[in-house]
Amino acid sequence: MEIHELDRLGDEIAELSAHLEAATAHLLDLIREFDARAGWNTGFRSCAAWLAWRVGLDPGAARERVRVAHALGTLPLLARALARGELSYAKVRALTRVATPETEERLLALGRAGTAAHVERIVRGWRRVDRQAEARETARRHASRALHVYQDDDGMVVLRGRLAPEVGALLVQALAAAREALYQRSREKDSDTSPPDVSAETPTMAQQQADALALLVETALHSGIDPGAPVERYQVVVHVDGPVLADPDAPGQSVLEDGTHVSAETSQRLACDASRVVMRHAADGQVVEVGARTRTIPPAIRRALHHRDRGCRFPGCGLRFGQGHHIRHWAHGGPTTLSNLALLCRRHHRAVHEEGYQVDRHPDGELRFRRPDGRLLPEVPPPAAIPADPVQALRARHDAQGLRIHARTASPGWLGERLDVGWAIDVMHPLAG
Ligand SMILES: [Zn+2]
Ligand SMILES: [Zn+2]
Repeated sequence: MEIHELDRLGDEIAELSAHLEAATAHLLDLIREFDARAGWNTGFRSCAAWLAWRVGLDPGAARERVRVAHALGTLPLLARALARGELSYAKVRALTRVATPETEERLLALGRAGTAAHVERIVRGWRRVDRQAEARETARRHASRALHVYQDDDGMVVLRGRLAPEVGALLVQALAAAREALYQRSREKDSDTSPPDVSAETPTMAQQQADALALLVETALHSGIDPGAPVERYQVVVHVDGPVLADPDAPGQSVLEDGTHVSAETSQRLACDASRVVMRHAADGQVVEVGARTRTIPPAIRRALHHRDRGCRFPGCGLRFGQGHHIRHWAHGGPTTLSNLALLCRRHHRAVHEEGYQVDRHPDGELRFRRPDGRLLPEVPPPAAIPADPVQALRARHDAQGLRIHARTASPGWLGERLDVGWAIDVMHPLAG
C-alpha cells in the first residue's frame, strides 16, 4: 500500500516537473520578446540585470536565462521539445551551448535519448572539438598574415597583403583619420579661395588612400615609433566655463581638447568625480591664473564612500567599481561629504546626469531613484500576483493548449548502455575527425 502511494508521489513529481519545463519555455519566449523590445531599458544595464532585480534570480542564472532564450529563437526543434515538456531545461541549457540550426536535429535526438549527465558530457566534448576547430582556423589565419612590397616596372611601389582582423581594423581607422586630416584641411582652404567646380581635381578614393598612407608613414617616422602609454592615449580633457558647470542653460561652453563640444550635462558628469585644475581666463582668452590640481573627492572620503556603498547604488545594479556622484553637484555648492555622495557605476552615473534619472537622499538616509517620468524606481520591486493554486492554474493552461503532459513525458530513451562520448561526437559533430 505504501509502495503504491510513493509511486504516485514520484509520478506526481515527474508530471509537475514536466509542466514546469513547459512553463519555462513560455517564460523564455516572454524574456526573448521583452529583451528584443528593450523592456528592461529603464535604467538597467541589461535584460539579465532587470531579471535579477525583478524576479530575484542570481546574476549568473539571469544571464543564462537570457542566453538560452535568445538561442531558442533560432533553434525551433529544441524550443518545441521544451515547450512540450519533453526535454528538461537543464538539457536544453546544455545543448544550446553548442547547437546551431544545422546540428540542432542531431542534438535533439541526443537530448531525448540520454540523461542530463550524458548530455552534459557530450556537450563538453563537442565544445572541445569546436574550440580546436576555431583554434586551427585562428592559427591558420594568423600564419597567413603577410605584407608584400615590391617595385613595378614603371618604378611605382606595389603593396599586397593580408592582415589579422584587429590589425586591419587599426589600419582602416588610421587611414580614415589621415584622409580626414588631409582632405578636411584642403576642403576648408579651397572653400575660401577656389571656384566651386573642382570635381576634376578631386582625387579618387584610391588616390586619397595612397596619400593617407604617405601621411601615416611620415607621421610615424617623424614622431618615433612608439605607441605611447595607454593613459596618455585615452585621457580626456574638458575645458568648461564655470557658469556652465553650475547651470547647463548658462552661456559658455564645454569643449574637449580637440575642440569637440560636449553637452553641459556630460561635463557635469565628468567633473563630478575628477581631478580638476581651475584656470582663470581674461576676457580675451588669455590664461591669467592656474590653480593646483585637486581631486574633487579626496582619497579619505573616497575610501569611506566605497566602504559604505560597496558598489553602484542604482536599484538592481551593485557593480563593484564606481564613481562618486555628488547628489547636489559641487558646482551648485553641494558639499563633498558622505551624505551628499553616492557610488554609481559609469553606466548609471550617465543615467543620472544625461538620461534624466533622478536621485536624492531622504532624511532617513535612504537613496531614492526616480525614472525620467518621475515614477519611483524601488530598490525591491512589488511582488507579482500569484493564483491561489499555481499548480492547478499551470495544468489548466497546458490542458487548454492541448498539451498532454504525464509522468513519462520527459523520460529519456536510454536503456542503461554505456556512453561512449568520443564515438558519439565522431558520428555527430560535423567537424570531428
Ligand atoms: Zn555625478
Ligand atoms: Zn550601476
